[in-house]
Amino acid sequence: MTVSAAKPDSGGSYDFDVAVIGGGPGGYVAAIRAAQLGAKTALIEKESLGGTCLNVGCIPTKAVISSVALFRNMQNASAFGLSADNLAFDMAGISGGARKVVKQLVGGVGVLLKKNGIAHIRGLGSFVTANSIRVQGEAEQTITAKNVIIATGSVPSRPPIEGLDAFREVWTSDNAVFADRVPGKLLVVGAGAIGLEFAYIFNALGSSVTVVEMMPQILPAADSEATAELGKSLRKQGITIKTGTTLKKALVSGKQRRALISSGDGEETIDADVILLAAGRKPSTEGLDLDAIGVKMNRAAIAVDANYRTSVPGVYAIGDCIGEPLLAHAASAEGEAAAETIMGHPRTVNYHAMPAAVYTHPELASVGDTEAQAREKHADVVVGKFAFAINGRALGGRETEGFVKLVVSEKHGEILGAHIVGPHASDLLAECATAIASEITVDELIHSVHAHPTLSEVVMEAAHDARGRCIHKV
Ligand code: FAD
Repeated sequence: MTVSAAKPDSGGSYDFDVAVIGGGPGGYVAAIRAAQLGAKTALIEKESLGGTCLNVGCIPTKAVISSVALFRNMQNASAFGLSADNLAFDMAGISGGARKVVKQLVGGVGVLLKKNGIAHIRGLGSFVTANSIRVQGEAEQTITAKNVIIATGSVPSRPPIEGLDAFREVWTSDNAVFADRVPGKLLVVGAGAIGLEFAYIFNALGSSVTVVEMMPQILPAADSEATAELGKSLRKQGITIKTGTTLKKALVSGKQRRALISSGDGEETIDADVILLAAGRKPSTEGLDLDAIGVKMNRAAIAVDANYRTSVPGVYAIGDCIGEPLLAHAASAEGEAAAETIMGHPRTVNYHAMPAAVYTHPELASVGDTEAQAREKHADVVVGKFAFAINGRALGGRETEGFVKLVVSEKHGEILGAHIVGPHASDLLAECATAIASEITVDELIHSVHAHPTLSEVVMEAAHDARGRCIHKV
């Protein structure tokens, strides 16, 4: 759509009620919600609709992980009474499958915008004033909007490590997701969700993978018992994990590429064909010309209040560009809340009930407080735990690693946190997130009958365990 240059007239009429800059899961959801509530809405996107999540993040990585999981299961075919000879994979096929899924979903976002009457404006958006945005696309145009939502996301950060520029084979998730080859020796820097998922993928496809993490545990913010369980499994799969360790220097000598890593035990040099940087992302605000309107920042992120208002009236910000938790569903929830606030229904997001998942095998998914956090806040914490190893459905699926752990306030039965390591943990977590968001107690979980045989029975059994009344525990 082309919109001619327009300025608000003295009566305050604008081209749009709401203009959203950025078409990721934050921005496109905000635009749809605003349109649902009756706003004349525009969405400005400089690249492909769907943002990081659909194009190079959540979706393609999970499509690749599905290929990898199937490949691993087929290697274990005999356990299922099957045989799978001459098993092989090709990276072009794996990437091609992921690209197909991406294309379908990106197309779907376009359809949703159209259905909701949202003007999709292609180009780079930057502020001229708080109510007028220059869009540099095929042609330059300026649009005006009564309210603007900034949803410009984040980009991988590149830590200033000596030797990286000369090393050349330095990937971020943007390169790794559609990689056309499997590195012989891969060094992953950072054991957050992104680093671990790529470590899992390339290890399963045959790379020799080392992960270095500067913090004392993988997934530093997660429950330590859960991360220990996941770490045990990933190590068993062949991944070398070094916590309390940093990459100090990338070294190239002739054709040989190596990395100098450092920990409390000293320094060592390891071989590395490729270094994959997964040590964080930074808010993407370059090119927006935020200085032109004087938006206050919180370090590199845009500062907002609980309803996603920035320091400039009429300008809102959501998603990765406002900082943690850097999750697609958080961006979407914030987008809905910002749109509703603009349309006169101020809403906030409950971050305590924000689920997070890592899609390795086993998966790790968590919501609410870790056990350590809960014990700091409450004197009556009890833990209910149940292992997948004694669940019929998990045994049938030959996926028996891990457990469900519920952190509970003994007095009131309030569920303070849930931490699941195991098959389909990300899906199973939804019940726990709903329980926390809706303040459903562990006793109500116990009394809600769960279908048999399902993995969800492990959640119910963990609830039983918190009350010391587990049926299937010896
Ligand atoms: P983005 O999705 O980054 O979208 C921002 C959009 O704004 C982009 O399309 C960009 O082109 C556009 N833009 C930027 N500046 C301008 C401008 N000036 N003008 C016009 N357009 C502009 N999260 C999960 O919840 N689950 C996962 O499994 C998961 N896996 C991930 C895997 C990887 C490898 C990565 C990198 C991320 C993953 N994430 C995951 C995180 C998730 O992708 C982000 O949290 C999410 O995409 C943030 O949404 P957003 O709308 O804030 O920003």
